[in-house]
Amino acid sequence: MSQPLIPPHGRHVDLREYDPAFTGHVSKEQARERLPALRARLNELQDTLYADRRFAVLVVLQGIDTAGKDGTIKSVFQDVGPLGCSVANFGVPTDVELAHDFLWRYHRDTPEKGKFVVFNRSHYEAVLVERVKGLVPETTWRARYDQINAFERFLAGENVVIMKFFLHISRDEQRERLQERVDNPKKHWKFRHGDLEERRNWDQYQLAFADMLSHCNPAHAPWHVVPADHKWYRDAVIAQALVDRLEALGLRYPGPFEHLAGIRVE
Ligand code: ADP
Repeated sequence: MSQPLIPPHGRHVDLREYDPAFTGHVSKEQARERLPALRARLNELQDTLYADRRFAVLVVLQGIDTAGKDGTIKSVFQDVGPLGCSVANFGVPTDVELAHDFLWRYHRDTPEKGKFVVFNRSHYEAVLVERVKGLVPETTWRARYDQINAFERFLAGENVVIMKFFLHISRDEQRERLQERVDNPKKHWKFRHGDLEERRNWDQYQLAFADMLSHCNPAHAPWHVVPADHKWYRDAVIAQALVDRLEALGLRYPGPFEHLAGIRVE
């Protein structure tokens, strides 16, 4: 069995066709063995990105509660230094954020050239939680697919490389992860009663995710549907996709600012 990591562009996505426990032909040992090399390579590429200064990289992480957004960041970006990489978390909007257009707070945190920014949740919340919880009317969230596409097209035209990862977990896996938060004292701080309420909206979230993947998946800002029930597979897939994309950019260290021949440092 196989399934595409990037759904075909411009086609309707049915998430039931994507197995959250998919691991291809990769074993846990193989993935675990490969990950350190990928992390190290990502760090090298980020260093070159910083020196090169032609591109910025925006990584978008979305997924239902417990899908593993934080865990992905900790694992995949473990070796990438803070000099050129940061994480932007997006929670419930503040009054000031709500007083602006819906993209304002996201645009403010997009990366400058030479840098990596990871969006832990993102502008897609505007067609996910805001849709599912009925925070905005349908006409509003429906119009947002085109607005998001225009925003990403604009960023891509400004040399922002956009990589979007949807962490796809099963309902059973979410039950186990939530139960672990109840049972394990080290994870109590992560649990809110509201999480159980949100879990009841599972089907509406799956629909909203499918629409997001169907409407906003252009080649310059592709969604990756990452099978995320197995954390080891999730991390290896995301690290590999980032390495492949950055290697394809042809990043290079710039030459010297001035003529260097013959200079001897005393
Ligand atoms: P996380 O769950 O990502 O680890 P938090 O516990 O801070 O982080 O939760 C962030 C909360 O903010 C989530 O419940 C999410 O649904 C909510 N949120 C994010 N963006 C929006 C938005 N645009 N409108 C309403 N709620 C949002």
